[in-house]
Amino acid sequence: MNPINPQQPTWDAVDRALEQWLSPQDDALLAAQMSAERAGLPRIAVSPAQGRMLEVLALAIGARRILEIGTLAGFSTIWLARGLVSGGSLVTLELDPERARIARENIDRAGCGTTVEIVVGPAAHSLETLRAMGVPPFDLVFIDADREQCPTYLEYATALSRPGTLIIIDNAMHRGRVIEQGTGEPSVEGVRSMMDAIRRHPRLKAAGIQTVGAKGYDGMVLALVGDAPRAASDPLDILLRHDAWATREST
Ligand code: SAH
Ligand code: MG
Repeated sequence: MNPINPQQPTWDAVDRALEQWLSPQDDALLAAQMSAERAGLPRIAVSPAQGRMLEVLALAIGARRILEIGTLAGFSTIWLARGLVSGGSLVTLELDPERARIARENIDRAGCGTTVEIVVGPAAHSLETLRAMGVPPFDLVFIDADREQCPTYLEYATALSRPGTLIIIDNAMHRGRVIEQGTGEPSVEGVRSMMDAIRRHPRLKAAGIQTVGAKGYDGMVLALVGDAPRAASDPLDILLRHDAWATREST
């Protein structure tokens, strides 16, 4: 277990204040939280402050298509769906059919019933199906399921993206355990190899941010998908490099 940080009461109080100032919850969001409590689900949904951040980010990039990996009771799903442009859509992947059922009720109650599709099953399998179907690219991907498979989810997220897609990975610091080497623990190894994969990835530019709040200490990674690197022999690339050279020469 993690020791409770002595700052936790402050983080809780500030999160409550932030919620009142910046991210007030309507009845549907409160009902979603209550349904999760009633069903005895683990209290691992994003906080209202984090949910609002997801909504603001979705709005900022004008997201039309969002993919979420890890639904639970649909709390983050509702925030994200509210960040969609009108007419947009969201696909969320959940392993547990009972959680998916609870999420369905919550999402419908929040008025997002027609924009949100819940796909039940192991996410890696659902992602492979989406890829094989050749669905249009997503504008935003929120990865928030088992940490063990983070590298797999990242790979699919980039495969299902376009230049400009924003990939957000929750709980990426594993409460600080991300820096522990050689633990052999699948969840720690998962976040660590995801970090390595991002660093090596030619199309990703990413920022890691540590966070505190009602959920204690953790963090997220925001990764932006860039253009596919061109081969050195690519005629368009040669042309562009020539142009860049010519422009430099003439100034
Ligand atoms: N995004 C939610 C929280 C998700 S918790 C929120 O913030 O409100 C993580 C969820 O991922 C759990 O509901 C769990 O059942 C699901 N999950 C775990 N392993 C999975 C897998 N292999 N495939 C799909 N979902 C998985
Ligand atoms: Mg999470």
